[in-house]
Formats: sequence, C-alpha cells, structure tokens
Amino acid sequence: MVDYQKIFDDIWNGISVFAGVGHQADYIPALAKVNPDQFGMCLQEVSGAVHTYRQADERFSIQSISKVFALAMCLSLKGESLWKRIGKEPSGTAFNSLVQLEVEKGIPRNPFINAGAIVLSDILITELERPEDEFLGFVRELCGEPGVDYNMDVAMSEREHGFLNAAIANMLKSHGTIVNDIERVLMFYFKMCSVEMTCRELAAAFMAFADRSPFCFAGYSLTNSQIKRMNAVMQTCGFYDEAGEFSYLVGLPGKSGVGGGIVAICPQRYSVAVWSPRLNSKGNSVMGMKALELLTTYTEESIF
Ligand code: GLN
Repeated sequence: MVDYQKIFDDIWNGISVFAGVGHQADYIPALAKVNPDQFGMCLQEVSGAVHTYRQADERFSIQSISKVFALAMCLSLKGESLWKRIGKEPSGTAFNSLVQLEVEKGIPRNPFINAGAIVLSDILITELERPEDEFLGFVRELCGEPGVDYNMDVAMSEREHGFLNAAIANMLKSHGTIVNDIERVLMFYFKMCSVEMTCRELAAAFMAFADRSPFCFAGYSLTNSQIKRMNAVMQTCGFYDEAGEFSYLVGLPGKSGVGGGIVAICPQRYSVAVWSPRLNSKGNSVMGMKALELLTTYTEESIF
C-alpha cells in the first residue's frame, strides 16, 4: 500500500523552493486577480480511495482542461470521422499559435491547442440544441457534483481580451473548418474554459479515463478503445510545446490549463489533479509540473 499522505508531504518539501516562481495568466484579466500563492492536490485511486492535500477543495478556472471534456463529447458524437477536421499530432508550438494553422490550411494539429478546441466548440454547437447545458451536464455527471458551473466574469473577461483566439477563429472560418457564427463559437469556447472545479472534482472526473468501467455519462459513451486513444492524445498533446518535457519528467497522460491546474492519469491505478496558479513561460503550472514529477519519482510508477 502506498502512503500517499507521506508522499504529499515529501512532494511539498521538494516543491516549496519554487513558491514565488512564475505568475498567473494575466492575459485574462480575471485570472490575474487570483491569489497566486495557493496549492492543492488530490489523488483518487481506482478503488475509490481519495487523498487530498492543502487547497484540494478550492475551485479554480479549469481553462484548457475543459478541452478533454469537449473531445470526449465530440468523439462520442462523431466517432473517427472527427479526425477529418482536426489532427492528432503534437504541435510543438504555443497553445494559441497562428503560424502552423496558416501553413496547414486551417486544420488544427490537435484538439488540445486552442484552434483544435475552437473546432470542437463548433462541432458541439452544430450537433446539440443546447450545447452549454449539455457540456455542463456532462462535466457534472463525470465528477458527481451538480454545483460545478461556468464563471461568466472569467468568460467575459477572456472575450474582451481574446484577440488571438478571435484571429484563430477567423482563420478557421476562412478555411471552412468552422461553420457556425464566429461570435457564437468563441463565446461557447470561452464558457467551457471558464468552468470552475476543485482538484477533488477534477480527479473524480478523470477517473472515467483511468479505469476500465463502462464510460457513459449524461448519455455520452466511449468504448475502451476510444478512452485509450483519448489518453494517447493527452500523452502526446496535453502540454502544448512542453508535451515532451511532461512526458519525460512525469510519464503520464495529462492535461494542463492556464488557471494553473493539471490533471494526469495512471491507467488502472489513479487519477491525480494538482493546482497552483503560477505558470511557466509555456503556460503550465510551475509547482504543478514539479509536484507530478516528484509523485511518479517517489512512487516509481508511470506508464513507462
Ligand atoms: N482560455 C484559454 C485561452 O484560450 C485557455 C488556454 C489554456 O488553458 N492553455 O487562451
């Protein structure tokens, strides 16, 4: 039996030297207001045992972690045909880069960069009558918490300053990769990013990708083979231009967001969520990355 509380204490000792390194995602003004000196962690084992540390029950903006939920819904709705509109190769570029999108004629490299998730947003708007309600319903059922919600202040703050995402959406539209109204697609994308969850809720939600029980939430189902592929995309594309580094240091599939959250999965073993708002230059949580590196180092467990 692994003593996760002891491991959390050891991790804290190892990462406290990084307190104060990096800063919040201030390009979204509402996120710049978050107290940067917070840290939470929650690990849920497939047995159901839950281990928490420090601010594991504080809600924060999940930002790009929402892209995993959107991908799960789109895969459930569209199956393999989804990949005609989005690639599944690591981008090696920043999450909001426009360069590759222009060269590759409006087909986003993968669903976890902004361009890819904006296409997911477009697909959900086409497929669903009430995409906002459906998305929230899906996430609530995944984590078992009906209180999870959008934060409209964060969504509007990003809308007001989301010039790069607007440029990406326009580029996608000019290539015909998105079909709905640009404003509509962007607003839904910003809302998905604005969802707030705790580490405990995120670990619970990602358990669905870590174990082998039938995946069916709010009417969206995935086969084990599709879950395997979702984990593959998280492994290769979950950290933008730091995907290789995360794979090297941590060795688990996962996904980060500029709210400072990171979720990772050890298949058949556990899901783990960590949060600390100070980010590195790639937009990933400094203490979060280090904490997960130490977790797989101390437990000597990863997918490799
Ligand atoms: N909402 C953020 C954006 O579009 C999400 C980015 C992220 O979390 N990496 O810029």
